[in-house]
Amino acid sequence: YTSGSKLLVLCSISSGGLIAYADAHSEGGRSTVKHNQEEPRKKRVVVLGTGWAATSFLKDLDAKSYDVKVVSPRNYFAFTPLLPSVTCGTVEARSIVEPIRNITKKRSGQIQFWEAECLKIDPANKKVFCRSSVDEKLAGNHKFSLEYDYLVIAVGAQVNTFNTPGVLEHCLFLKEVEDAQRIRRAVIDCFEKAVLPELTEEERKTNLHFVIVGGGPTGIEFAAELHDFLHEDLLKIYPLAKDLVKITVIQSGDHILNMFDERICSFAEQKFQRDGIDVLTGCRVVNVSDKLVNMKIKSTGEDVSMPHGMVLWSAGVGTRPVVKDFMEQIGQGNRWILATDEWLRVKGCEDVYAFGDCATVDQRKIMEDILTIFKAADKDDSGTLTIEEFQDVVEDIIIRYPQVELYMKSKHFSKLADLLKDSEGNERDAVDIEGFKSALSHVDLQMKSLPATAQVAAQQGAYLSRCFNLKLKHKHDPEGPRRFRGSGRHEFRPFRYRHFGKFAPLGGEQAAAELPGDWVSIGHSTQWLWYSVYASKQVSWRTRVLVVGDWTRRFIFGRDSSRI
Ligand code: FAD
Repeated sequence: YTSGSKLLVLCSISSGGLIAYADAHSEGGRSTVKHNQEEPRKKRVVVLGTGWAATSFLKDLDAKSYDVKVVSPRNYFAFTPLLPSVTCGTVEARSIVEPIRNITKKRSGQIQFWEAECLKIDPANKKVFCRSSVDEKLAGNHKFSLEYDYLVIAVGAQVNTFNTPGVLEHCLFLKEVEDAQRIRRAVIDCFEKAVLPELTEEERKTNLHFVIVGGGPTGIEFAAELHDFLHEDLLKIYPLAKDLVKITVIQSGDHILNMFDERICSFAEQKFQRDGIDVLTGCRVVNVSDKLVNMKIKSTGEDVSMPHGMVLWSAGVGTRPVVKDFMEQIGQGNRWILATDEWLRVKGCEDVYAFGDCATVDQRKIMEDILTIFKAADKDDSGTLTIEEFQDVVEDIIIRYPQVELYMKSKHFSKLADLLKDSEGNERDAVDIEGFKSALSHVDLQMKSLPATAQVAAQQGAYLSRCFNLKLKHKHDPEGPRRFRGSGRHEFRPFRYRHFGKFAPLGGEQAAAELPGDWVSIGHSTQWLWYSVYASKQVSWRTRVLVVGDWTRRFIFGRDSSRI
């Protein structure tokens, strides 16, 4: 439709030949899409985003039963775990993306997509305001609004600079496909600059100093990829750069990869040391200029400056402005991330769901709930629970809060075992409530929100689509099979995360993996496991073939170093 015009769209729905119409008109420069139907209309579901969370939601949703509209500035899904490989040309950018329309067209119902950014959510009027992301010259800054019955927020997170001066201006980031392409060009630029005539050796060294701020998985994977790229490909064609090139990782904590098992941390640190990658721990970057990274050594308070040719900032993620604004409207302005309950419903707001990197399940509420369950189990106020009662309570807690199970299973959690067995290893008859409370408060201190990973986002998306599909069934069968523990508390079981492990590729055809059950695997065979898992996780056969093709090409011909 064109803005400012009135248009009647007739669409015939094959089942029963139902006539529906959409009324598009302009409201103060913005066009509004309203829906009226003669029959009870389908509920309108507006989905924000086309990342891991949203795509997994759309893939399983019964799209015939809802009127689904998707808004995202990206008209594709990107397989983010392979972004570090794109930075060095191990894998091509187009091999890891799949057009969202290819994904949605496979759904039985119709799903509409608009390439646009949501600028504002208006929960009071159940509307979102959007602006087209199509090139402004082509689309003319087109704005529109959409009404919803259910809103699904899956907009992910954005880079967090922690307001460090100079970061936005002088650092590169690795969040989107365009970022990876930018890095690939910047690396080649550094080499081309370094070999220009009439430069001093110091200038060449500076141009070839690659600094990575952040020792988390993204920074470490990039450092490993870059090291391989330099040593397997670039130094062969830029021999002058051989003794001048350097990679430095700056980490504010004491270790890199500190969210991984300590065996993986120390393997990675030793491997980097062997590879000649400098790891500076306990350093906080205070500002970045076009020539220098300035940092403070935490232990001594000393200021240090380091010349650089290129800086990658991968020190954390933050909340997107549209989500921040929404949080303020619903009374969550004092939080750093949008809070939901365990059913992924936004707290303090009806019919709005949020998941993936943009939201987290509220931990305070969880602790309150856990203590309530616990108190309720101690019916006679004796201060102890029998082993059976205790096991029931733990089971109940774990059904609602899978994070607790993850934590209890982890090797760090010894307090629970202490409660069940005495010092000689004999099983106790009863469990002391105070002891359990103290173990729980320990959990409270240690239990972090679910990690911001693709694995969590995808599982949440699949969970929510199942809830949406069941919602309709429950209308006809309110006592449906999934009623939570017969308590009538909620139609669905809360979201339960299943951890399948995590990988850290470390370069040189070696990877580390933390698998369920505290299993750790490191080395060349783990790299082959990584290849097979990542090939199998591709969103389509097309991308799977492209990615495997890229890996094969790299094995045979090496990486391409053209700056295009
Ligand atoms: P995203 O996938 O970021 O998707 C957000 C979507 O929202 C995008 O489509 C975006 O265009 C859209 N959007 C943004 N703003 C708006 C707006 N205003 N309106 C509408 N739409 C909007 N996780 C793992 O589990 N394993 C890994 O190996 C791994 N490696 C990673 C490597 C890198 C380099 C990066 C950056 C991340 C990696 N992650 C990994 C993390 C994983 O990518 C994220 O946790 C995951 O992408 C989160 O999914 P999401 O859908 O919440 O957000």
